[in-house]
Amino acid sequence: MLIVGGGPAGSSCAWKLARKGVDCRIVDAQSFPRTKLCAGWITPEVVRDLEIDISSYPHRFLSFDRLYFHIYGVGIRVNSVQHSIRRFEFDEWLVRRTGVPVDTHTVREIRKEGEYYIVDDRYRARYLIGAGGTKCPVYRNLFRQANPRAKELQTVTLEQEFPYEYHDRGCHLWFFERGFPGYSWYVPKADGYLNVGIGGMASQLKHRGEDIWRHWDVLVRRMRRSGLVPDGSFDPKGYSYYLRSEVRAGRIGNAFIVGDSAGLATRDLCEGIGPAVRSGLMAADAILTGAEYSLAAIPRYTSDSRVVRRSLEFMFVGRERRRLARTDVAVAS
Ligand SMILES: Cc1cc2nc3c(=O)[nH]c(=O)nc-3n(C[C@H](O)[C@H](O)[C@H](O)COP(=O)(O)OP(=O)(O)OC[C@H]3O[C@@H](n4cnc5c(N)ncnc54)[C@H](O)[C@@H]3O)c2cc1C
Repeated sequence: MLIVGGGPAGSSCAWKLARKGVDCRIVDAQSFPRTKLCAGWITPEVVRDLEIDISSYPHRFLSFDRLYFHIYGVGIRVNSVQHSIRRFEFDEWLVRRTGVPVDTHTVREIRKEGEYYIVDDRYRARYLIGAGGTKCPVYRNLFRQANPRAKELQTVTLEQEFPYEYHDRGCHLWFFERGFPGYSWYVPKADGYLNVGIGGMASQLKHRGEDIWRHWDVLVRRMRRSGLVPDGSFDPKGYSYYLRSEVRAGRIGNAFIVGDSAGLATRDLCEGIGPAVRSGLMAADAILTGAEYSLAAIPRYTSDSRVVRRSLEFMFVGRERRRLARTDVAVAS
């Protein structure tokens, strides 16, 4: 069993398989711990799915019992328990917890020979998991034709995580500031780390002739003015991923795509870690039990509120949302 990518999707899959005694190996282009651009917000469902005992988690873990939403200048306090971790620490912990060997190697070519997948003429496996995120080579080589990505669902982001003695330990989210088709965030981590960032829909920005840096500057000015980060000097980095679309084929033969490789981030809050974990566990289940691998079982939305879901989705994806919301189908061949 070969798992390409050791992020939350790949390590969840490996964790479940290894616990049942399946021989597997993870291959990742980077060695762990590695930097992964991400705000590092995780939901209670992620903690549950991964059976994390928070009291014995050895790294930074912060829980919030309320979030601050700022929408068109109006502040709303939302009571909800959520958590933050640092991906640099969390992903390494998850991948080591699997007990599975992890090779550092950038996968490029994949072909099928009989019942085996041959990866870069270096690995041979009966089952192959594509957990390589947005740039996953399993997606690129085997799934792209079946699941072309919808450009309307592509996000563009900028973020920075840094040591900071913050005084406000609340999690703040600003939606649609100055018409930005997305949101910006201020997410404290335990023991003096902070993540700030901005993420929005690439095609809408393009349509408006705007660039994300303009909105990044708005965020920086806001943090200075409000005193959240009065003295910060920033050098953010960018990354892109896809919100949930129709996934026609999550499985083709004995190859699977999971997490960002399949484009599973939620359509309201752009949450990607939860769907990555769920899909990784589901792919393991399909291999272990022969269960159907149907991504339709993975929630498309984070929020329980229909009004929140629909309004955020409308702001992010606009009129395209119906066309892009068709049913997911698992294809096995
Ligand atoms: C700025 C930003 C902020 C975000 N904030 C949040 C948040 O707060 N909460 C949330 O739930 N989601 C958030 N997301 C989304 C979330 O980060 C992703 O959805 C999640 O990481 C997906 O996990 P994954 O395991 O599918 O992919 P990844 O975490 O991207 O892991 C993929 C792995 O594959 C490896 N890989 C890639 N190509 C190859 C190759 N050719 N060969 C071998 N290995 C390869 C990579 O090195 C990487 O380790 C954010 C995303 C961004 C960009």
